[in-house]
Amino acid sequence: MNNFTFYNPVKILFGKGQISAIANEIPAGARVMMTYGGGSIKKNGVYDQVMEALKEFDVTEFGNIEPNPHYETLMQAVDIAKRQNIDFFLAVGGGSVIDGTKFIVAAMEYEGEDPWSIMAKREPVTKAAPFGAVLTLPATGSEMNSGAVINRVSTKEKLAFGSPFTFPKFSVLDPETTFTLPLRQISNGVVDAFSHVLEQYLTYPVNAPLQDHFAESILLTLKEEGPKAVKNPKDYDTMANFMWAATMALNGVIRVGVPTDWATHYIAHELTALHGIDHARTLAIVFPALLRYKSETKKEKLLQYGERVWGVTDGTEDERLEATIQATIAFFESLDIKTRLSDYEVGEETIATIIARFEERGVKDLGERADIQIRDVKEILTLSL
Ligand code: NAP
Ligand code: FE
Repeated sequence: MNNFTFYNPVKILFGKGQISAIANEIPAGARVMMTYGGGSIKKNGVYDQVMEALKEFDVTEFGNIEPNPHYETLMQAVDIAKRQNIDFFLAVGGGSVIDGTKFIVAAMEYEGEDPWSIMAKREPVTKAAPFGAVLTLPATGSEMNSGAVINRVSTKEKLAFGSPFTFPKFSVLDPETTFTLPLRQISNGVVDAFSHVLEQYLTYPVNAPLQDHFAESILLTLKEEGPKAVKNPKDYDTMANFMWAATMALNGVIRVGVPTDWATHYIAHELTALHGIDHARTLAIVFPALLRYKSETKKEKLLQYGERVWGVTDGTEDERLEATIQATIAFFESLDIKTRLSDYEVGEETIATIIARFEERGVKDLGERADIQIRDVKEILTLSL
C-alpha cells in the first residue's frame, strides 16, 4: 500500500425527499445562483422541488448549461453572478452541470486574465465560491469529488481541472430524480462509473487488498445493477444502488494507497472534443484497446479482475487476458454502447489530429507507470479503429 492523504469534505444527503433539506445546508441570507441544464429538471419536477426548498432565498437561475459544459456559456454565468453578488451556487443536474458549476465557482475568484488558464496552463485554484449539488444522473462522481471537465467550443478542446476548493459543500442524491433518465444516459452512467473504477484498479498490485475489494465490489454492483437499471429505470432500489455505486466509484475512496491510470479518460476526452461523442461512449472505445495494448504490464490485475468480476478461470494466461477484455467489451455492448471508432465513422484522420494536438501540448508519460507516450497513444487508437 502506498502512502496517502485522504480528504473528502462532501456531505451527502441520500434518499427520497432529501431535496427539501437543502435549505439547512445553505447559509442564511445567501444570494443563490441555481445552475441547470437544458430543461430536464423542469419536466420531471426536480426544478419545482428545488424552488420550493429555496423559497427563503434570493435565487437567480442560470440554465442551458450544455452536456460537456461549454466554457463560453459558463463565463456568461460568471459575469451575471459577479454583477448580482451571488455568494452561493446550487448545481442541479448531471455531471455537466456540476462540473460547469465547479468551473464557475473557481472563475468567480480567479484573479488572472483568463480563467481558461486553470485548465490550459494548470494554474492552481487557490479559492472558490461555495456550492452544493442536486444530482440527477448517476455517472461521473462529480457530486462527491473536486474534479471537472470543461469544453471550449471555439477551439474544440476538452480539459480537466481539480482543486481542494471545488468540492461541493453538500450533494443530494435522491434516486427518484433519476426515474426520467433516457436509457442512453443510464447506459452511459454505468459505463462511465465502471471505467472510473477500472482506471483506479487495473494498474499494478501494491498489496492493498482492501482497495482491491472496494473496487471489485463497485464493479460487481454495476455489473448487477446496470442491466437492471436499463430494464427498469423506475425501480427505486435499483437506481439507489446504481447511484451510490457511481458516487463511490470516484469520490477518492478507492484511489488512495494505489496507483491510478487515467490514460483512457485523457485520450477519450479528445473524441468528445472533436466529434461530440458522449463521454462514456468514448471510454468504451479507448478502454478495450488500451487494455490489450498494456495487457503485459497490467497482467496481474487484469487476471484478478477477470477471475473476480467475470469468473474467468480457464485457459492459459493469454487466453484469460483476452477472455477478460472480451467480457468487458460484451458488458459495454450489452448496454448498447459500441466499442470501436468505426462504429462512429471515425477513422485515421482523427487519430492523426489527436496525435498532432498531443504533440503540440507536449503530452507524455501517461498511465500508472508513466510509460504511455504519444506513439503509444497512436497504437492504442489504431487498435480501436
Ligand atoms: P450530462 O452531460 O450531465 O447529462 C446528459 C444528458 O442527460 C443531458 O441532456 C441532461 O439533460 C440529461 N439528464 C440529466 N439528468 C436527467 C434526468 N434525471 N432525466 C432526464 N434527463 C436527464 O451527463 P453526465 O454523464 O452526468 O456528465 C458528463 C460530463 O461529465 C462530461 O463532460 C464528462 O467529461 C464529465 N465527467 C466528469 C467527471 C468528474 O469527476 N467531474 C468524471 C467523468 C466525466 P438536461 O441538460 O436537460 O438536464
Ligand atoms: Fe468519466
